[in-house]
This record gives sequence, structure tokens and C-alpha cells, in this order.
Amino acid sequence: MYDLIIIGSGPAGMTAGIYAVRREMKTLIIGKEVGGQMVWASEIENYPGFEKIKSFELINKFKQQTLNFGVEMKDDEVKLVEKAEDGHFILHTNRETFEAKTVIVAMGLSPRRLAVEGEVEFNGRGVSYCANCDGPFFKNKKVAVVGGGNSALDAAEVLSKIASQVYLVHHSASFKAFDSLIDEVKSRENIEIMLNTDIKSIEGANKVEKIKIYNKSDETEKVIELDGVFIEVGRIASTDLVADFVDRNEKHQIIVNSKTETKTPGLFAAGDVTDCEFKQITIAMGQATVAALSAYQYLQLKNGSNFVAKNY
Ligand SMILES: Cc1cc2nc3c(=O)[nH]c(=O)nc-3n(C[C@H](O)[C@H](O)[C@H](O)COP(=O)(O)OP(=O)(O)OC[C@H]3O[C@@H](n4cnc5c(N)ncnc54)[C@H](O)[C@@H]3O)c2cc1C
Repeated sequence: MYDLIIIGSGPAGMTAGIYAVRREMKTLIIGKEVGGQMVWASEIENYPGFEKIKSFELINKFKQQTLNFGVEMKDDEVKLVEKAEDGHFILHTNRETFEAKTVIVAMGLSPRRLAVEGEVEFNGRGVSYCANCDGPFFKNKKVAVVGGGNSALDAAEVLSKIASQVYLVHHSASFKAFDSLIDEVKSRENIEIMLNTDIKSIEGANKVEKIKIYNKSDETEKVIELDGVFIEVGRIASTDLVADFVDRNEKHQIIVNSKTETKTPGLFAAGDVTDCEFKQITIAMGQATVAALSAYQYLQLKNGSNFVAKNY
């Protein structure tokens, strides 16, 4: 029986783990991918203490510190969460079952699907949701980036240095991104911008070979031959796993109070998965700190001790 199980091994999950073991809580993190969304970033420039640091380097530092403190970490996906009659939690992965007195949900955000024909079929065979991870596979090839926000323009900029040609396909008439990034993208000779354009399908034999696009301005359809499609149309909270235990907003983000409590005693949430308006590493970590201390306090009060908040 763990005192605490944390679902998710992004910055929120690892921070919660560090704080929990420092309170002598027997703690397990179950996470699909260590580092979470940080894996998709290349460099981080707003994490205090490092003017600029490669994201994989920061992830390794987080992981090392988490393990050094004695947090157990498992690379796995939680598939089912149940509550026993005495109030403790039972978490199932495909292979194992774990029990805990408290849970912190730190599942972050995952890429939004485009929902077009061929997207699922060619996932990993030309369709990608991470330019920083998969970009190098497309050296001197032709790719499309779908989307019009900062992530899409950032992906187009990164890919323009690797691929021979980048088509930036956006369904509306203007971008929603930083002006400096838009200017940068417009200045790249090998980026062709296609506004007001929808992708109708992604096609090929064994891997991506072409996309069919529809220009809504002149109502024309066109086929573009290419090797890869990078989908960058935002990120969503996939929280159905804990739907019975929490209240969620219209974006399926978990609603928490200032102590990161949910409607279920003993179950807390932290990081991008919550309804906090801003999504950043330091915010996720701050919320995770609160969550770990709240979980500790919850157990102390349950055990009849007077919780004394210590500021260290
Ligand atoms: C391209 C990009 C660049 C960014 N750049 C910056 C930046 O420069 N500075 C900054 O502050 N922020 C940046 N961010 C945002 C930052 O990465 C996030 O705010 C932060 O990672 C949120 O941390 P988190 O731990 O809450 O969630 P996440 O990082 O999303 O981690 C959640 C983890 O939970 C796992 N998980 C989900 N469901 C389950 C399950 N059922 N079982 C087990 N594990 C599960 C996920 O696989 C993931 O590993 C960037 C984000 C992106 C996408």
C-alpha cells in the first residue's frame, strides 16, 4: 500500500514525488513518458536557474533528483482507477494493480487529433505530433505542418531547417501566434503558407505519400505529394480515466481548489491537467508542490495528528 500514487511523470508528477518523499510518504509515480510535454520542447529559456537549457537535459535532472530522493517510478499507463470501500484507491495498468491511500492526477495534456481520413492509419508512418522528436527523420523531404498557433509556427520554423519544403496549412485566414514567429516563418523561402485551407485526407500505401487539401477561398481541391504531416492543432486534457472522481470544465480539465483538492477526498490534481488558465512548467510544479503537501496533510488529519505546516 503506497501513501501516494502520482499519475504522470511530467514536471508536475516529479515535483509532487520529491515533495512527498521528503514528508516520508511511500510514493510511486506511474507515467507514460518521463518529462511529459517537455519532451516536445527543444530548449527552455524561462526555467529559473538556467538561462537556457536543452529540455532533455532538464528532464534528466528532474528524473535523477526524483529517483535519488527515493521515489519509485514506473513507465506504464494507468488504465483504470477505482475506490475501495475504506476510501483507498486501486489503480490498474494493463499488467499490474497498485493500491494507495492518496492519488495525485498529473496527466497533463495530449495532442489534439485533426480527425481526418488517414490520420490514425499513418500515425508513426509519416503522421507526427512532435516536430522536435520526429523532424530529423524528414531530412531533405517534403512535409506539411497543420495548424496556426505558436506550436504550429514553431514546428514549421524548426522543420524548414531540416526538410526541403514545408507546407504550412491553416484552416483560417490568419495565424494566432507571436508576431515575431509569424515574421520568421514568412521569411523562410522553403515555407509555403496555405491559409483558409482544410486537409481533407492523408493518403499513401504503407506510409504517407500525399495529402488532399481544399482551399475555402477559391473553392479548389489540390493534391500535394509529400513525406510527412505534422499535426499541431492544440492540446487537450484526456481525463475520462478519473471522470467519476472529479468535476471538469468544458475543456475536460479538472477543477481544483487552492489546495488542489477535487470532489473526492484523497484525490488531488496538479499541472496542465487542471483548470488553471496558464500552462507552464513552473506553474505545474508549483501546483504539484501544493498537491503533495495537501496529500500529506490529508493523511495526517485522517490519522488524527495535528498537521503542522512547516515552511521548508
Ligand atoms: C512544444 C512545447 C514547448 C513548451 N515550452 C515551454 C517552455 O519553454 N517553458 C514552459 O514553462 N513551458 C513550456 N511548455 C509547457 C510545459 O511543457 C507544460 O506546461 C508542462 O510540461 C506541464 O507539466 P505537467 O506535468 O502538468 O504535464 P505534462 O508535461 O503533460 O506531463 C503529463 C504526463 O502524464 C502522462 N500521462 C497521461 N495520462 C497518463 C496515464 N493514464 N497513465 C500514466 N501517465 C499518463 C503523460 O504521458 C505525460 O508524460 C511547452 C509545451 C510544449 C508542447
